[in-house]
Amino acid sequence: MLIKFSQRVLLLIVILLTGCQNQPTVSSYPPENFASLTEQDIIEISRQFCADQDSTAFLLAKDSNYQKRLNHLADTLGYQLHGQTLNYRVYLDSNINAWSTASGCIRVTTGMLKAFTDSEIQAVIAHEFGHIELQHKLRSFQHAQRVEMGKDINSIAIYVEEEFAHKLEIEADNYALAYLQKHNLDASGMLTMFDKMPQDNNQVLSTHPTSAERLNNIKNKLKLNQ
Ligand SMILES: [Zn+2]
Repeated sequence: MLIKFSQRVLLLIVILLTGCQNQPTVSSYPPENFASLTEQDIIEISRQFCADQDSTAFLLAKDSNYQKRLNHLADTLGYQLHGQTLNYRVYLDSNINAWSTASGCIRVTTGMLKAFTDSEIQAVIAHEFGHIELQHKLRSFQHAQRVEMGKDINSIAIYVEEEFAHKLEIEADNYALAYLQKHNLDASGMLTMFDKMPQDNNQVLSTHPTSAERLNNIKNKLKLNQ
């Protein structure tokens, strides 16, 4: 099943396979190319990626109201995870989006901060924590069936099993719920955030679990906890 990965993962692949700044040509790569990758490799490349993204994005000033709000939420969530120091910044971007890297970059757009409540932002970030703590990037590379590269970074796709992609998203949700509960934070955002997530009609993204599936999973978890 084809999964379009985030730009972050796509760039990792470009660096790993080309080792230079050149644009890749259209090619397909077998999974053996990724078999020897370690978590440390992913962290190092993630660090480079984050610095690169920050240099091209519009980073809000540290004393901006959006950044202050994110800092406040970061205080509730913590700054250490999986041996990494977390670094939270806001991008001026009207799209609803948040992403993280294995090296501890947490980036949230102004679009998301505008549309989401505090508990929803906490839920989104805790979900990102799940991806970091459970080494989802490394595991995705290890499970790649093949990788295809087009003319630019945005046209690179990694092929993994649909079931595997579902599993990682649900794992990250379960991690997020447990994390919020462990830190005595309001977990209600786990139930309401899905309605606000942008729905992508892109066919390649349909292999991800739907918001309804993810919501049902969290509802079931909450029932079990009662
Ligand atoms: Zn996710």
